[in-house]
Amino acid sequence: MKGKTKHIFITGGVVSSLGKGIASSSIGFLLKKLGYEVTIQKFDPYLNVDPGTMSPFQHGEVFVTDDGAETDLDLGHYERFIDKSLSQKSNCTAGQIYDTIITSERKGKYLGKTVQVIPHITNEIKKRIVSLDKDSDIVITEIGGTVGDIEGLPFLEAIRQFRLDYGAENCFFIHLTLIPYISAAGESKTKPTQHSVIKLREIGVQPDMLICRSEKKITKEMISKISLFTNVVPENVIKGIDTSCIYEIPLEFYEQNVHKIICDHFKISVSSIDFSKWNKMVYDYKNSQKQVTIALCGKYVCHQDAYKSVVESLFHAGISSSAKVEIKYIDTEKHFTDIDFYSKENIEQLIKNVDGILVPGGFGLRGIEGKISIIKYARENNIPFLGICLGMQCAVIEFARNVLHFKDANSSEFDEKTTHPVIDLMPEQKHIKNMGGTMRLGAYPCKLKPNSVAHKIYNEDIVSERHRHRYEFNNEYRDSFEKNGMIVSGISPDKKLVEIVEIPKNKFFIGVQFHPEFKSRPLKPHPIFRDFIKAAISQPGG
Ligand code: GLN
Repeated sequence: MKGKTKHIFITGGVVSSLGKGIASSSIGFLLKKLGYEVTIQKFDPYLNVDPGTMSPFQHGEVFVTDDGAETDLDLGHYERFIDKSLSQKSNCTAGQIYDTIITSERKGKYLGKTVQVIPHITNEIKKRIVSLDKDSDIVITEIGGTVGDIEGLPFLEAIRQFRLDYGAENCFFIHLTLIPYISAAGESKTKPTQHSVIKLREIGVQPDMLICRSEKKITKEMISKISLFTNVVPENVIKGIDTSCIYEIPLEFYEQNVHKIICDHFKISVSSIDFSKWNKMVYDYKNSQKQVTIALCGKYVCHQDAYKSVVESLFHAGISSSAKVEIKYIDTEKHFTDIDFYSKENIEQLIKNVDGILVPGGFGLRGIEGKISIIKYARENNIPFLGICLGMQCAVIEFARNVLHFKDANSSEFDEKTTHPVIDLMPEQKHIKNMGGTMRLGAYPCKLKPNSVAHKIYNEDIVSERHRHRYEFNNEYRDSFEKNGMIVSGISPDKKLVEIVEIPKNKFFIGVQFHPEFKSRPLKPHPIFRDFIKAAISQPGG
C-alpha cells in the first residue's frame, strides 16, 4: 500500500470486559483478508511495567511472545485471529512509558525543563503508536480500560493529538460500548452509550464508529437515537450481539460492512474476501456431533480468563477432530483442602466421565498436592494426560514419589529442603533478585528424540516453543526416570534442559516444559493439543 500507514484506535466505554481485544482482532482479521499488512498493539494504562508480576486471579493469563515479552492476554487473541507472531512492541503499559520518561529525566535529558504529562508522556505514547508503522499498512491500537478512568486520560489525550498531527484521513476512532437490557423495564437502554461518548468528546475524541455490545436485539430506532446523541452516522453504529463462538465475530462485522466503512475512510481499496476455510471452521465448531470432556485442573479456575490460551487451544483441537470440547474445571486447591479428598474414590468422583486430564502452568505451592493426586490417577488408569510447564513438573514429582519411591520428592520451588529435588531452580536463576521479566522467557528450540511419541506428534526433529519458567527437570535423576518408564523425548540442543517427558506405555501421557497453547491457531491447531484430544476421543465413552 502506498502512502502513510493508517491507524485505527479502539477505546471502550461503560464497563470493562466488553471484548475490545476480540473486536480489534476481528477487524484486524478482515483487513488482513483484504490483503493489507496489519499489526495490532495494546496500551494498558496500569503502572506495572508488564503483567508478568500480576496474579492470574487479577489479570487473567499472561501471554508470552516469541521474543520473550510477558504481555496482556489480548495479544493471544490478536495472534490467533490475524495468524501472526507479534513482538514485545505490541504491548505497552503506562508503567513502561513513565519508566522511560523518568529514566531520561534522571539522565538530565530534559535540560532543566519541567517534565509533564503533556507533552512528555503524551509524546512518548505517540512515539510508541508509530513505532509499528515501518512494516505495516494498518496499525490497530487498543486502549485498555474504560473511558472515564483517570489513568487512561494520557492515552486518550495522545490519540486526540495524534489525529491532529497525523491527519484525520489516516486515523479512525472506534468506541466499543454496552447497551444494557433492564429486565424490570423490559427495555434496552442507550443512555450509558450516549454518556460514554459525551465523556470521549469532552476530551476531544469524536468516534467515527460505535460497536454496541448487547445481549438483545438492537432496533433501528435505537440506532437512530444513538446516532443523534453521539454524532456518529447510523451506518457506522454497529451491532455487537453476543455470539456462541468468538470466531464468528469477523463474519458479523463483515455483514455490517465494518471493513468497507474503514477502507472508505482511509480511501483504500476493498476487494472480495474468501471466507471458505474460516466459515467451515465456525460451522464445524457449532455443529460438531462428538463431544469430549477434558478436566482442566488448576488453582486459578475461578477466573474465566486465567487459562485463556489453553482453553482456545482445546477448542481448536476439537474442531480438527469434529468434536465439541467440554471443559470441566477442577480447583486443585479448594477440592483438596481436606486430606480425605486425596482418596481414590474422591478423585474418581471428581473426574467422573472425563476423557482427558490437563494440568496447566502455575506458580507456588497452593493446589500442588491436588494436581499430583490427579496425575497419579491419570497415570495409573491410563487416562490421556497433558501437563504444561508446572503440570509437567508435577507429573515428574508424582512419578518420583510413586514409581521411583522417593517419598519426599518435590520441586525446590515448594520444598527447599527435600532430599529429592527432581525439579530444581535453573543455575542462571540462582542469583536473580528482580522478579519482573527474569524467567526463561520466549521461544527456544527443542530437539525431539527419534521414534518418541513427541516426534510422531510433531513429525519434525527440532521445534521452537515459547517458555516462561524458572525451574527445570533435575538431570541427576534422568537415568532413574528413563529406566522406569518415563522418558525424556525433547531436550534443548545443548542437551542441558529437559523440554518434554512422556510415558510411552500409556495411551497418551506427555509433559512439556514449554507452553504449546501460545502457538495454536483456529485453523492450525497445535499438534500436541490435536493428538491429546484425539486420544481423549478414543477413550471408552469419549
Ligand atoms: N512455577 C514453575 C516455574 O517457575 C512453572 C512455571 C509455569 O508453569 N509457567 O518453573
